[in-house]
Amino acid sequence: MLVAGIVLGLIALAIYALARTSTVTRGTGTSLRRTASSHVNVNGSPKRAYPTMEAAREVARQQSASTSQTMSAYKCGTCKNFHIGHS
Ligand SMILES: [Zn+2]
Repeated sequence: MLVAGIVLGLIALAIYALARTSTVTRGTGTSLRRTASSHVNVNGSPKRAYPTMEAAREVARQQSASTSQTMSAYKCGTCKNFHIGHS
């Protein structure tokens, strides 16, 4: 049963590596991280900025109505304007 032992060892190693990777990913938090409350889109380009929360909320409301996704407005910590994103 030596082969089975090696396979189990590799599986345990893979689970360990995955757990470490996800922990590291969660630990990193900057204003440039690509989440719903980010300054950049998933492709890395800056999001459209709105000068007021009211303007951003209005666009978010319209986009939520025209798509099946719920959008929300938030204040950006990077440029101090307002963006909209998935919530
Ligand atoms: Zn921004």
